[in-house]
Amino acid sequence: MKFERYGIGIAKGLAVTIRHLLRRPVTTQYPEQRLNTSRRIRGNELIWDKDKCTGCATCAKTCPQGSIEIVTSVMIDENKYQVEKFEVDTGYCIFCGLCVEACPYDALFMGYAYERAKYRRGELVMANEALLASAERRPSGYARPQVEAALPKQSLLLDKDRGKR
Ligand code: SF4
Ligand code: SF4
Repeated sequence: MKFERYGIGIAKGLAVTIRHLLRRPVTTQYPEQRLNTSRRIRGNELIWDKDKCTGCATCAKTCPQGSIEIVTSVMIDENKYQVEKFEVDTGYCIFCGLCVEACPYDALFMGYAYERAKYRRGELVMANEALLASAERRPSGYARPQVEAALPKQSLLLDKDRGKR
């Protein structure tokens, strides 16, 4: 009796193995092939819009990690702040997105990319121009519906599998 049960288990296992042998692979050959990530990914370093930023420091006060440091000077004639330094220590950042949600001027975005390995700790501290958007540093749609609408739809391995059948 026990022998029969054991044999059935082996047969079922082999059937599963054979079924998978006949299926086409669903894996993605990264980095040559890539899937589209979520449009609201909290990826990469923060993206800063220097022109929109007023230096109000709401983002820095919101950050639970104390990752953001802002230095401003007062422009008395124009009755506003000049942002001298906007620095984010992404080594401490936990990519929670609270600073992006808190910014009242839509001047801060999470990044859309996710490859952010660095060789040195110091390279994780990013300031001013290094935080601006570029072709490699696109903003994510996280908490920014207008950005989200313009990004490509997320693709999943499941969709890829369905397309091959
Ligand atoms: S994403 Fe979170 S941890 Fe990172 S800087 Fe913003 S508030 Fe701080
Ligand atoms: S909350 Fe927004 S506007 Fe205020 S300092 Fe931060 S990025 Fe600039």
